[in-house]
Amino acid sequence: MFGSTHATQQSDRYKKTAAMLAERFVFQQFPNSHILQYLVPGEDESLVPGERRFNWVWYVNYDEATELTPILTDRDGKRRDYSIPPGTIAPQIEQQMRLYAERVLATPFQRLVAATKEPFVQAILDLGVPQMAFNRIALVGDAAFIPRPHTAAGVSKAAANAIALTDALVIQNHDVKKALDEWETDQLRLGMHLWKAGQDLGERSQFLYGKERFNDVSTSNAA
Ligand SMILES: Cc1cc2nc3c(=O)[nH]c(=O)nc-3n(C[C@H](O)[C@H](O)[C@H](O)COP(=O)(O)OP(=O)(O)OC[C@H]3O[C@@H](n4cnc5c(N)ncnc54)[C@H](O)[C@@H]3O)c2cc1C
Repeated sequence: MFGSTHATQQSDRYKKTAAMLAERFVFQQFPNSHILQYLVPGEDESLVPGERRFNWVWYVNYDEATELTPILTDRDGKRRDYSIPPGTIAPQIEQQMRLYAERVLATPFQRLVAATKEPFVQAILDLGVPQMAFNRIALVGDAAFIPRPHTAAGVSKAAANAIALTDALVIQNHDVKKALDEWETDQLRLGMHLWKAGQDLGERSQFLYGKERFNDVSTSNAA
């Protein structure tokens, strides 16, 4: 589950929490879960203190066969493949997640979740391919590798793929086939490195305290 909220709130307790969280990259780990938060620019890319937003990401494992369908079904009953956009989580799923937050999160994170008006859901999946070049076609960015978010490298990897492709085309005098042959090896190595690093970081962060969900929360009655 992801969300963002303004770095200032009116009440004193929210102000105190905001002051504590600001300028820190804060994590909480517990069984089958971790949540983290950091500041991001506010509206119009503002970096002014008080205008920035807190971004948070809360990872919870759910069973793909039995639990994911209600979570990935939006408030209009539409089953989505991988994500539920802000403002469209099914009310009963959102309520369960907010109740779970109140039960298991540390107070500053409880406040962060409570202050977030429209959280959203993103399924985390591993994607990797054994080949990125197919005749004159290249797979770049997320089309080739989606490392877990822990690497925070999806954008720079996509840019690196594109920049290296430009370089290879120039070096090979715009012979596309030769350029792609030269380009592919290093890009596969980069993708596989990040793919593996993301899995290692994700497993370590999520399961440090075990795989059982704390005070197990179920979505099975939510559909
Ligand atoms: C919630 C979330 C948070 C993230 N946070 C970070 C972060 O902090 N740091 C980081 O580095 N990465 C982050 N990522 C990952 C990052 O967004 C991706 O790795 C990156 O955007 C990949 O770039 P891309 O160009 O390969 O794909 P995309 O950015 O997905 O671009 C693909 C484009 O193709 C378009 N498209 C799709 N199908 C068609 C079609 N049939 N015809 C025409 N156009 C089409 C799409 O609309 C889209 O604009 C995050 C991702 C998510 C979902």
